[in-house]
Amino acid sequence: MKITRLKTAVVEGNFDWTFVRLETDEGLRGLGECFFAPGLTAILRSLEPLVVGEDPRDIHRLFRKLRLATSGAGSIAGIIYNAISGIEAALWDLLGQSLGVPIYRLLGGKFREKVRIYADCRGGEALECLDEVLRTRPARWVSRDPAAHVAKDYFGEASDEPRSSPDEYRRRALAMKAQGFTALKFDFDVPGTEGADPYNRELSNRAIDYGVGLIAAAREAVGVDIDIAVDCHWRYNPSDVVKVARELEPFRPLWLEDPVPPENVAALKEVNAKVRVAIATGENLFLFEGFQGIIAQHALSVVTPDLQKVGGLAVAQSIAQFADVHSMPIAPHNISSPVGTLAAAHFCASIPNFLALEFHASEVPFWDDLVTGVPQPLIQGGFIHLPERPGLGVALNEEVARRYARKGEAFFA
Ligand code: MG
Repeated sequence: MKITRLKTAVVEGNFDWTFVRLETDEGLRGLGECFFAPGLTAILRSLEPLVVGEDPRDIHRLFRKLRLATSGAGSIAGIIYNAISGIEAALWDLLGQSLGVPIYRLLGGKFREKVRIYADCRGGEALECLDEVLRTRPARWVSRDPAAHVAKDYFGEASDEPRSSPDEYRRRALAMKAQGFTALKFDFDVPGTEGADPYNRELSNRAIDYGVGLIAAAREAVGVDIDIAVDCHWRYNPSDVVKVARELEPFRPLWLEDPVPPENVAALKEVNAKVRVAIATGENLFLFEGFQGIIAQHALSVVTPDLQKVGGLAVAQSIAQFADVHSMPIAPHNISSPVGTLAAAHFCASIPNFLALEFHASEVPFWDDLVTGVPQPLIQGGFIHLPERPGLGVALNEEVARRYARKGEAFFA
């Protein structure tokens, strides 16, 4: 079997869901999803000649080939790997289809029949739709005048928006619990907690009290049996975020995510050593090498690679094995469509040390409609039951995808 074409399409969900399709001379088509990035489809187009003519079943060799070819441009990490992650996932889909087995089987089989999903609840109820440089944009699926939309930066603006309220957190937590989710995640860094200076990583006492009050409201609403993780989006300095963690202790968070910049291992280690809350990080890290040091040094407690960015399913497996040796659970970050979510679910089923997989798109009304071939909805009662169909187990519903395709981008052309 030989790859004949690499094609792309971009769908505007709450983020740009970027799809890679590998076509072959035997008529099989492999589907993968990439984490968004500026210029991502141009990168994918550049990689096409490297895979055309290759046997898609040589997954590890093709990964190495792509890695070597981009080593000058991308060197040891970066958005080149957003592209490679999607290609690698499409290769697994092709291998599974060619052998007639699901991806989890190729990854060594499953530890569990169903994969636990946690619902990202962000900062409450406001709809969030972000472009590739994290500016807000009007969501295409909401009837609203796009001309009236004022784009805002996700980072770097001291916000004059109203803050999220404890009531919002309470309502959101109860709504997700009612859907069957056993684990939730809320943002600590809601607008209004940046302080007067959004750049200096500082947290005022007032901001700490406010954020802790939000989490307290969610905890009070759902009781002790629902897990609640808390995200800081790498905004703070170690000493301030240690104060946060100590205040959050009574509410028993599942983890505190990205308290400090993930590339600062010393700061991460300092926070992890000083608090009694599990520290999670990983969504900004690439490849096994990105995780090797922080895991070996026990600078974190929960490992959160993003399968659409980290380098692919095989890379994620090597990270999971290393984390397991260090007695750390894996809770993959995930903002993808059902395509990427399902690829991640195959991986989650195949590792012993799985904790929970993220779902970030509960407001997107067409999320489930984007794929065919699995029972709807894909997430039932807070879990994904693994499909037994060959490969990834789903096909993209191109009619729906085309309806929300990003303008100016190719649609599998
Ligand atoms: Mg996060």
